[in-house]
Order: sequence, then C-alpha cells, then structure tokens
Amino acid sequence: MSNNPSFIPFTRPSFNQETIDAVADVLRSGWVTSGPKLAEFEATLSEYFGGRPVRCFANGTATMKIALQVAGIGPGDEVITTPISWVATSNVILGVGAKPVFVDIDPVTRNIDLHKVTAAITSKTRAIMPVYLAGLPVDMDRLYAIAKQHHLRVIEDAAQAFGSQWKGQKIGSFGDLVSFSFQANKNLTTVEGGCLVLNDDCEAKLAEKFRLQGLTRQGIDGMDVDVLGGKDNLTDVNAVIGLQQLKQLPAYQTRRAVLARQYFDAIRAELKSAELEALKLELPVENFTDSNWHMFQVVLPLEQLACDRALVMTELKDLGIGTGVHYPAITGFSLYKNQGYKISDTPIAARIGRSILTLPLFPSMADEDIGRIASGLVGILKKHSKN
Ligand SMILES: *Cc1c(COP(=O)(O)O)cnc(C)c1O
Repeated sequence: MSNNPSFIPFTRPSFNQETIDAVADVLRSGWVTSGPKLAEFEATLSEYFGGRPVRCFANGTATMKIALQVAGIGPGDEVITTPISWVATSNVILGVGAKPVFVDIDPVTRNIDLHKVTAAITSKTRAIMPVYLAGLPVDMDRLYAIAKQHHLRVIEDAAQAFGSQWKGQKIGSFGDLVSFSFQANKNLTTVEGGCLVLNDDCEAKLAEKFRLQGLTRQGIDGMDVDVLGGKDNLTDVNAVIGLQQLKQLPAYQTRRAVLARQYFDAIRAELKSAELEALKLELPVENFTDSNWHMFQVVLPLEQLACDRALVMTELKDLGIGTGVHYPAITGFSLYKNQGYKISDTPIAARIGRSILTLPLFPSMADEDIGRIASGLVGILKKHSKN
C-alpha cells in the first residue's frame, strides 16, 4: 500500500457511524459472541432470500466446507468446479477428502463453461460448485438442468454474488446450497463471515451441528456429539455489522453500477483517443441486470504488449492506482501441481489467470477516480503497445 494520500486502493469497505455505534452497543451489552444479534441477522437474511433457511459462519471458507458436509460429500467423491476462483473453493473440496475436477472457463464471462461440464461427469461426481466471478452468475437454468439430469448436488460458491440476480430472482433465493462470503472486500461485509442458504430445517440443524463441534443439546443440561464439527460460528459483533450493511446495500449497489458504467465509457473513450481500437483489451460482460459489480476486471492483451502484467500493475501503482489479481488459475499452484493437476488442461483459464486485472471499484470512490484510472491504464498500454 502506498502512503500517497490520493492513492486509490482496489477496494475499500464502507462503515457509517450507525454501524460503529451498533458495534459499540454489542460490546457494552454483556453478550458478544453468537447470540441475539446473530439470530436477528439470520432471520433477516432468510427474509431477504424469500424465506429459505439461512445459517451464518465465521467466514466464507467455513461456509463452503459446511455446505459440502451437509451434502454428505467426502472421500471418493468428485466435485466439478472452476480453476478461476479464490483457492478456498477447491481447498474446501480437498479438505473434506473429495477430489476437485476443474472444467475450463468461458473467456467472455470468465465463469465455468457449462457446455464443458457434462464431459467431466463420472460415476464418482457428486456435485457441481460454480463460482460467480465478480458477481456475474452463470446460466442458472442450464446449471440446474445439468444437475437434475445427472442427479448432482449444486453448491454455489456465491461468495462474490450477494445482491446478484438471475431473471429477476436474487441469487440465493432459489437453487440448492448457496454459500456467500462477508469478508471485508465483499459487497456486504461483516469484516469476516459468511452465510449458507439451505433447502430445509433439517439441513439447517445439520449445519448448526457442524458449526459447533458436532454438538446437539438435549434438554437443559444434556448434550451429545455424534459427528466431527469445527468452531465456525459468527459472533454478534460481526452479525450487527451485517444488519447495518444490509440497510446500506441498495445504495452501495446503485453506486457500484454507476461506477461500472463510467468505466466502460471512460476506457472506450480513452482507447479511441489514443487510437488503440485494435488493442484487444477485454472488458467485462455489460450485464447491468444480473451482476452486483463486485469487481471490474479487464483482461490485458499481453500478446500485443511488450510488457507483462506485473509491469502494468507497477506503473499503475506509481500513478497512485491500486489493482489486484483475481485470480491465477488454481491448477498452477504447487499443492495442485503436486497432485497431478496441469494448468495446460484448462488453457483458457491459464491465459485469463495470467492476464486478468482487477481495477478499483468500491462505493466511496469519486467519479473523477474512474477517469484517472482509465487514462492511466490506457496510457500504459499505449506506451508498451507493439503496434
Ligand atoms: C471471498 C471468497 C471466498 C472465501 O471467503 P472467505 O470469507 O474469505 O473465507 C471463496 N470463494 C470466492 C470466490 C471468494 O471470492
């Protein structure tokens, strides 16, 4: 992080005074861990998702792990997923003893290519775990048609998709098990946290059990442990932040969409004035009905540039612009390579993972920031363009 006061980070959470006061109230209340605020947050989320049961967890990673446990996925099972995600997605599959099977992505949406999923299904496949990169959902009709036809569970890694939609329905308000993250960078944050939308109360009880050591309470003084659970509960301090964030979310979402619109216009105008229209800079899908604009990501035309992504990032940083990489292909990580995965098996993911770049996008950004970033980026591309 630069010390420059005008440095624009790639993301930044927003907490208003009401949120800070609400946290202070919890700290003074005498009950700070999971309690009444958690119950209220879960009930409010359940209402938000059209009445489906919701349980919260300490983070999105624990949420996905528990989703796999609720679905009964373990050793010997295969789970189909995408190589372009935060490594948590496939780490939790390995964590329950199952095997991640990576299917290449669609270069336009940068999500798992559903047309390639069927070919990856084997007799061991138990579930599909799609990821909605930057908050853009996959074709949900096609996803659930494949799952139904092959009797598979769907565990949606909707970590980035809180507030996203499909055909007017909120992601999470329909489907199978839907997992969200409330990590500090996400559109709705509890600092750290996550929630799982489940099908029924029976699954919700199971999730509660896995969340706390595998414990079931019996009467006022009895208890039993019949499965191995973890310590994955969300505290009231986090829950009260989530309750406040839910109130601010509509305004945040509107602002994100306005900024995304400005990015498209500003980048295109800059490319035009720099006479760089032949440059194959890939912008996101212009979907303003479904996406929550969790991120604004471009894919650099590295074959047309005499520099690599690292240099573009360094030069942007020198201009006071923070960027991020979300994400390198998971199959390129040593843990995965050492288990026999090959990055070359998913060539589109390999290319996108090398050249994708996340530009700053967060509700408290100023309009002028977008112009500054667009001209900074295009200026750097022009400088290094081979043509
Ligand atoms: C943030 C994120 C996670 C993990 O969530 P944590 O709350 O950080 O554990 C998983 N998958 C994706 C796609 C994410 O963006």
